[in-house]
Amino acid sequence: MIDGVPPVRIERWAALGDSLGIELYVAREDLLPFPLAGNKVRKLVAELASIDDRGTALVTNGAVDSNHCRTAAWLAAERGLRAHFILHDQERQGRNAAGLRVLEALGASYVVVPAAEVAAEITTARTSLESEGYSVHVIAGGCHTPRGAIAYRDAALAAFGELSVDTVFVPSGTGATQGGIAAAASQSELDIEVVGVSVARSADRGAGTVAEAAAWAGSPNADITFLDGFRAGGYGRTSAEIRAVVNLGWRHGLPLDETYTGKAMWAVETIAREGRLVDKRVLFWHTGGLWNQLVKGLGRA
Ligand SMILES: *Cc1c(COP(=O)(O)O)cnc(C)c1O
Repeated sequence: MIDGVPPVRIERWAALGDSLGIELYVAREDLLPFPLAGNKVRKLVAELASIDDRGTALVTNGAVDSNHCRTAAWLAAERGLRAHFILHDQERQGRNAAGLRVLEALGASYVVVPAAEVAAEITTARTSLESEGYSVHVIAGGCHTPRGAIAYRDAALAAFGELSVDTVFVPSGTGATQGGIAAAASQSELDIEVVGVSVARSADRGAGTVAEAAAWAGSPNADITFLDGFRAGGYGRTSAEIRAVVNLGWRHGLPLDETYTGKAMWAVETIAREGRLVDKRVLFWHTGGLWNQLVKGLGRA
């Protein structure tokens, strides 16, 4: 089982970079040694390192097809922990039934409830697991936690030590990944701009949780750039432009997805076309999402 996460793997992507007109490097968090890897692995391994496995039950929440919940279920199965998930997003349940089957196969339990009932269900689950004798560890949705942000700060500091970059692009959801990387940029000697590309939230809702995560990672004054113009209307929504850039990535052998990484790469493509990445070394922080694209349907035009 995984009990320590290797450093971020950085690769030079010359041909894809040429198609985009930039000097492109990719941080491959999608290649961590873990099934269907992505940024949730680094965050959750850091979170689980803090708990005593004996008699612990994990409780957390997410959308029905959440990468966070799937990764948590997998890590819990490896450790012999009981795991229970409060899932929302009922209207997509049918379409994403494969995600639920994975949770079941890993021995996790779950309930699917309307988003408004998630908080109450967490309390109910805690009470019932405690009455069964478990010590309950509730993890914030998306693993938006101080340990998650610190894990990304440390990973990014190591990456910046290996390669001096000018601009980092990262898909941003709850913000612990971007917040950790932004803290690393502000703590490094280099002049690095970190651009978070929102996959769901508007800037007025999303930028604050990124800043919160940067503060957890020791940089309350880190510069936060959170672009909300590449969301295609919200979480899980897509567009012809996103599909085109996802297909471009796949043709070069870089598996992008329409829910997360495709939105960030659409931002890279757009900003490069505006001439704003000339002479810049660009690090694209690949956060995973392979599962999401396979479920969504690969290769649609
Ligand atoms: C969860 C997730 C993100 C967003 O990470 P946050 O730390 O919540 O901002 C980005 N990409 C993928 C593939 C994810 O699963």
